[in-house]
Amino acid sequence: MNLELSEEQSAVRRLAREFTDREVAPYAAEWDRAESVDRAIVKKLGALGFLGLTVPEEYGGSGGDHLAYVLVTEELGRADSAVRGIVSVSLGLVAKTIAAWGTEEQKRSWLPRLCSGDALGCFGLTEPGTGSDAGNLTTRAVREGDSYLVSGSKMFITNGTWADVVLLFARTNDEPGHRGVSAFLVPADSPGLTRREVHGKLGLRGQATAELAFDSVRVPASAMLGPEGKGFSVAMSALAKGRMSVAAGCVGIAQAALDAAVSYAAQREQFGKPIAHHQLVQELIADISVDVDAARLLTWRVADLIDRGQPFATESSTAKLFASEAAVRAAGNALQVHGGYGYIDEYPAGKLLRDARVMTLYEGTSQIQKLLIGRARTGVSAF
Ligand SMILES: Cc1cc2nc3c(=O)[nH]c(=O)nc-3n(C[C@H](O)[C@H](O)[C@H](O)COP(=O)(O)OP(=O)(O)OC[C@H]3O[C@@H](n4cnc5c(N)ncnc54)[C@H](O)[C@@H]3O)c2cc1C
Repeated sequence: MNLELSEEQSAVRRLAREFTDREVAPYAAEWDRAESVDRAIVKKLGALGFLGLTVPEEYGGSGGDHLAYVLVTEELGRADSAVRGIVSVSLGLVAKTIAAWGTEEQKRSWLPRLCSGDALGCFGLTEPGTGSDAGNLTTRAVREGDSYLVSGSKMFITNGTWADVVLLFARTNDEPGHRGVSAFLVPADSPGLTRREVHGKLGLRGQATAELAFDSVRVPASAMLGPEGKGFSVAMSALAKGRMSVAAGCVGIAQAALDAAVSYAAQREQFGKPIAHHQLVQELIADISVDVDAARLLTWRVADLIDRGQPFATESSTAKLFASEAAVRAAGNALQVHGGYGYIDEYPAGKLLRDARVMTLYEGTSQIQKLLIGRARTGVSAF
């Protein structure tokens, strides 16, 4: 892998950095306190092409390779994980999955709107009773003529109350486990679908996380994404790429932690000199720096494998596992550098730590990533 960025990749990173420094980072603390990012940000992200990266231009996407996508995701994560998550889900989990599995009609119908920011997508896999064990989900889609009637509920759905389309996973036959699951593209204004925002989150407070309830929601058979009974493969293919996106967001968090720690250590004085002169403070900063580099290299490797058409799922789990744990460590170390001031929200370290914490939980917990990596290495499934 060539670690030198191309002109195009450097340009997109510059564009993302300028945009997030101007339009996102200055408002991140305010949106966190208000428990909502300004929705106007969605159209701005769309206008810059950030909601259509890697999606073919013929469907309204902005093209580009996966490394460009990772670079933009990293910058968004550096500025505000709540905004990063909106993109990771609507583009990373929904639009890219439609591009990979959709019929021509599904692509034409949803991709231009998702890529422009005229519409947002959400990913409905987790249920109140099934998180890690997603293959045992219980939401049912029962065939009735040329449509399906969907009943059940979904939990912790990012973009849930903002989304225009739900990429929904539901059971369409009685085969046990994941074999009975199919995927559907369900318009969020479908009669019988109600959405309730989940409040009181530790982090990602600016993001709309919701519980979705389906009460006999009628979905045309043409809304099925991918073959009948292959919904779990659709979900896993989405998550394999999604984990790279979470990892990139975590690199952004760790980079923000490093920037904040270095800047604070240079200006805060104790014992008659800036705290950056104390070796144990340098140790904290060195630990963050190593985490940033290692997480970034693991994440870029995934993008490189995807762009070269190579298998990448285990590397994506590896990057997600390491980068998410690294982001939590880095944010904690940055908070330590700030002393007591790190504990109040005038400084960014506390929010970085709160936002980082969920990254070891969603899109597969750290334990689940270890089982996936272990299975790949040993050939034995512990699930
Ligand atoms: C803010 C937020 C946003 C989210 N966004 C989405 C979204 O957009 N779409 C979506 O579908 N979901 C979303 N989720 C859900 C998320 O993916 C799940 O919370 C996650 O998969 C874990 O499931 P769970 O919470 O049910 O925990 P559980 O599966 O109940 O796990 C509890 C604990 O048991 C451990 N565990 C479980 N099984 C095993 C095992 N076999 N071996 C070892 N340990 C095990 C886990 O690692 C964990 O520590 C979101 C969650 C949050 C908090």
